[in-house]
Amino acid sequence: MDCDRCGADAVMHAAYSGAHLCGDHLSASIEKRVRRRVRRDELIPREASPENPQTWVIGLSGGKDSVVLTQILHDTFADDPRIELVGLTIHEGIEGYRDKSVDACVELTADLDIRHELVSYEDEFGVRMDDVVEDDPENMAACAYCGVFRRDLLSRYAEELGADLLFTGHNLDDEAQTALMNFLEGDVGQIAKHFDASLGPLPDREDQDDFVARAKPLRDVPEKEVALYAHLNDLPAHITECPHASEAYRGEIQGLLYDLEERHPGTRHSIMAGYEELADVAATEYGEDGDVELTDCPQCGSTTSVTGDRCRKCTLLDALA
Ligand code: SF4
Ligand SMILES: [Zn+2]
Ligand SMILES: [Zn+2]
Repeated sequence: MDCDRCGADAVMHAAYSGAHLCGDHLSASIEKRVRRRVRRDELIPREASPENPQTWVIGLSGGKDSVVLTQILHDTFADDPRIELVGLTIHEGIEGYRDKSVDACVELTADLDIRHELVSYEDEFGVRMDDVVEDDPENMAACAYCGVFRRDLLSRYAEELGADLLFTGHNLDDEAQTALMNFLEGDVGQIAKHFDASLGPLPDREDQDDFVARAKPLRDVPEKEVALYAHLNDLPAHITECPHASEAYRGEIQGLLYDLEERHPGTRHSIMAGYEELADVAATEYGEDGDVELTDCPQCGSTTSVTGDRCRKCTLLDALA
């Protein structure tokens, strides 16, 4: 098959749009979608200026998604004095896995001349995920501990680095999976939270000034295209899967979505279009019913919705001690 735009050999056929694209035109199309999302979500506020630059902290794991996001943000904004990029990498303490992806992060940020910060569970909490999995005091999946610790460090360091926004590399498949999981679990509160945290208009997100607002400009790009972008542009992305990966339910949903997309191209896009509208309604409804009260954890001081008690992270760390 030939590229629709230039006639060179196509590297992919996007069934959802009918497009056949060569490597160069696929890359250009992905970059265009990311820039459009930055514009639509109004990620650059009017008051941003060279004197008042925005600090954008990118959660950089070294996997293809965050590496591609960092590269495209760099290519777009490296010469824009209103934007400063910082890569933030979390080391969970997973032997043979995270060390290699940290190498990818160091290589990429050195290549692009971006400031890079590395923080670890071991230094911050005195635990390593490899040991947490062995201990498992709460009888939970590895990711249930890991997610709590990661969220804590990402928000804390984003704040310490003076972030105006915290970027993550979630792609279209990730978002459609989360949407479907929230539906199937019947969790309207979670749908409202998802909207407030990263789907709704940025000015609303910033109103919740207890947290640094999130941004996910890769969320219109399917996972397979992100992987192709990393490959075509020879980016130092690390592709091995975490040995403790245990989100079995997400795996099932992923399989379901692959099948649906294959038979009904465009399913992921239509799920997200409808979901965003519904999530907006859910967020409004839940907002009126009185927001969850946020307080400071008496042990570590981080913002928590668990009233009158320590935050989830402190509870888990105590159980592990
Ligand atoms: S797959 Fe789970 S355990 Fe592994 S790094 Fe991700 S959240 Fe942590
Ligand atoms: Zn082409
Ligand atoms: Zn705490």
